[in-house]
Amino acid sequence: MSKDFYDILGVSRDASTEEIKKAFRRLARDSHPDANPDDPTAEARFREIAEAYEVLSDPERRHRYDRGDTIDLSDLFASFGGFDDLIRSVFGDSGLFSTPTRQTNRGRDVLVPTQISLAEAAFGVTRELEFAALVGCETCHGSGAAPGTESETCSKCGGAGAVRVARRGFLGSVMTLTACDLCAGSGQMIRVPCETCRGRGLTSGERLVSVEIPGGVSEGTRLRLTGQGEPGSRGARRGDLFVEIHVADDDRFVRDGDDLIVRIDLGLAQAALGTEVETPLIEGGFQEIEVPRGTQPGTVFSLRGKGMDRLGRRGRGDMLVEINVHVPEDLSKEEEEALRAYASVRGEETSRTKRRRRSR
Ligand SMILES: [Zn+2]
Ligand SMILES: [Zn+2]
Repeated sequence: MSKDFYDILGVSRDASTEEIKKAFRRLARDSHPDANPDDPTAEARFREIAEAYEVLSDPERRHRYDRGDTIDLSDLFASFGGFDDLIRSVFGDSGLFSTPTRQTNRGRDVLVPTQISLAEAAFGVTRELEFAALVGCETCHGSGAAPGTESETCSKCGGAGAVRVARRGFLGSVMTLTACDLCAGSGQMIRVPCETCRGRGLTSGERLVSVEIPGGVSEGTRLRLTGQGEPGSRGARRGDLFVEIHVADDDRFVRDGDDLIVRIDLGLAQAALGTEVETPLIEGGFQEIEVPRGTQPGTVFSLRGKGMDRLGRRGRGDMLVEINVHVPEDLSKEEEEALRAYASVRGEETSRTKRRRRSR
């Protein structure tokens, strides 16, 4: 008994034709021998996948297979074209891998770091970023051809930028598209190169890009601005711009996801008797909070909606006000007397050692 075709494609027995096609596309891409030149088992694996697909994608063959009939696979891919046709029917004309046409000259991606404050990270900020990058040549407007001269269609690829190459593989020859080497994938030949950019269409320059940083971003986030990177040479697609966000530490708040933590020191008496304190807010200013009598160290008051913006969602996190009770270490004579009086009323045993004089 041969292997189960459904298992090979990783689909269930009632999978739709579309599901089968999808599974095949994925597997074929991963295991194509051209993509795994160093793996000797790739060929067999790929053949297996292709066989399974050939049988299951054809309703009549699939029906016979389900019924348990023997299906002769020996001549399925015997003819040249049998396989090429299969690949083309599933992946389209460009073959198994993405078309390299005009992609080879795609502009480079650019990474620009920027630092923002915690408050800016909380609500978002618009930043003007200035950075050095290749820009389109102003002399030739990016064409690479000297002004007044024309570029002409590439004689090798006829302007397509790519040429079909037949590669001999285990399946007979497989046609693939590769970038034209004569015009480097641009499809155009330059007769008189522009002097400023020597035909590249690009020169080094300064870029100024305004970027909107959304509220709630965290340290290390990279924002991708599609098509804002360096231009491709001679009209090819631009690269992308990545803005890497660094959030500066804040000496008042510690961030915990969308929440902000602030720590407030109270005196012994304040904690025991209750008080009102002001907590700083990330948007600026302060908010008064009631600290009730008998508040213990470590008590957390939560101010709802006073934290960071939630990235990509509505609303804000909370502000967590953590109460710390500061025990005095530098009692004056007067304070010590008051505290000892308190201890004796309270019946608390305290150390008899007198306060050491501190040199000030
Ligand atoms: Zn130029
Ligand atoms: Zn060409």
